[in-house]
Amino acid sequence: DLLVVGSANADLVVGVERRPAAGETVLGSDLAVHPGGKGANQAVAAARLGARTALLARVGDDAYGRLLLDTQRAAGVDTVGVLVGGAPTGVALITVDPSGDNSIVVAPGANARLAPGDVRAAACLLQASRVVSAQLEIPLETVEEIVRNLPDGGRFVLNPSPPRPLPRAVLDACDPLIVNEHEARVILGASATDGTPEEWARLLLARGPRSVVVTLGAGGALAADAQGVTRVPSVPVRAVDTTGAGDAFTAALAWRLGAGAPLREAAAYAARVGAAAVTRRGAQESFPTAEEVAAL
Ligand code: ADP
Repeated sequence: DLLVVGSANADLVVGVERRPAAGETVLGSDLAVHPGGKGANQAVAAARLGARTALLARVGDDAYGRLLLDTQRAAGVDTVGVLVGGAPTGVALITVDPSGDNSIVVAPGANARLAPGDVRAAACLLQASRVVSAQLEIPLETVEEIVRNLPDGGRFVLNPSPPRPLPRAVLDACDPLIVNEHEARVILGASATDGTPEEWARLLLARGPRSVVVTLGAGGALAADAQGVTRVPSVPVRAVDTTGAGDAFTAALAWRLGAGAPLREAAAYAARVGAAAVTRRGAQESFPTAEEVAAL
């Protein structure tokens, strides 16, 4: 019922005392390898909540590709749409310093080869979906092809991350466009410099989406549509690691919308899921089940 189209990466994480300068070598901690990428994260988050979820993505014919396929299947995601080959699996090289700050280099690999033709070839998956959720760690042409191939009555949810200016046809299809503060600023450009999140929500809505959600971290979120802008309260929790909170929020929102929930109700549920995700370390490892959300 939910189709996630997006990236799948292996996150390679090393702790360092300090980052190497040019030409220098430093020793780090043992390597930790985690399944990641916004597409893979969203699919796992939705499946863990109990959503019937499929992933359309591309990985390499290599060990990281197999790790990603295995973790998707273990979470219950339908991987018939995960294409293999064409380039190495996408990798994020992450160093973490003692203050917890990340430096990240992404090698997009197979994610950059998820092509418009792959979307056309996945027509059956698209037609079987009530909601299609995408992000921008795959080519924009591929996202544009998704918009052209949405099923009748199908809903399109976009988290434009990493953010870039969007063509009108993509903006018009979003219901909702889901942005954090950084993404809102980039998409609005100069018109956002000194506004409030409420003003960003209205400005984004005027660009074409049928609805907009602005996520505000511990501040919760804003839901905006023709009925106006509403604040979605956050759930107070002790935050341990905010990695993946936005992916968990987006997945939960897309799933509830596909189940027929109104925007504000779906966003309130998604805020509970996002809050649960920040109480545990990691991205996919931190995503809650529906029972854990209910117990929050
Ligand atoms: P992103 O990870 O994309 O930057 P946010 O940080 O805005 O997204 O988080 C997405 C959602 O997760 C928020 O709208 C909120 O509902 C929830 N969330 C994130 N951080 C916290 C927190 N510290 N406490 C409670 N909820 C949080």
